[in-house]
Amino acid sequence: MFIIEKFEEYNNKETKPSKFVKMFNYKVIQEEPIENLHLYKHKLKNMMFLTKGTKCVVDSCDKVGTKIVHCEIEHNKKHSMVIVTDDYYPLTVDHIMPKSKGGLDELSNLQPMCYYHNQLKSNDTEGVNITIPMTSIDISYDIEVGDFVYKKYGRGNHLLRPLGVVSSIEPNPHHPNGNISIKIVGNDNSWHSRSSVVKAAK
Ligand SMILES: [Zn+2]
Repeated sequence: MFIIEKFEEYNNKETKPSKFVKMFNYKVIQEEPIENLHLYKHKLKNMMFLTKGTKCVVDSCDKVGTKIVHCEIEHNKKHSMVIVTDDYYPLTVDHIMPKSKGGLDELSNLQPMCYYHNQLKSNDTEGVNITIPMTSIDISYDIEVGDFVYKKYGRGNHLLRPLGVVSSIEPNPHHPNGNISIKIVGNDNSWHSRSSVVKAAK
């Protein structure tokens, strides 16, 4: 799998000069403390790091952005600004709902994620292992038709899985008491308990 190979390659690159952003191979030309991030808040991506922090949202991951580096991208002399860890590992902006599935470029749909986990997530076409901690987005339980919703799952329902767009809210004919449920647009118009879904607050 692509990402595993890349990760092994990265692990084997420990002897590389430290002033390169790992994985990206960008040459660092200037560094700034992370406290200077507010100077760049006109860019949405930096605003996201300012408001949501620079730690990878994956619970088990210890990658935290601690500095801003300005880099030169090899060959084309293009410049780029990247948030990196102490040892120059890049933090990236993750779209909670992928752009390919209609996710928007807005603050509520963005979260900090290290490069490794972001790649792992985008390689996961089945969506099985997408784990969004509930604490990483502002949750709303006020579900309406047309909303994009997430299903709560995992131990203690503390993780979210993108589910889809609500097509109707009505009594579920398959439920013994006809509980009001939500129906999701899709092949099977699947039914879900209203209490098991949430949406991102505006
Ligand atoms: Zn991570």
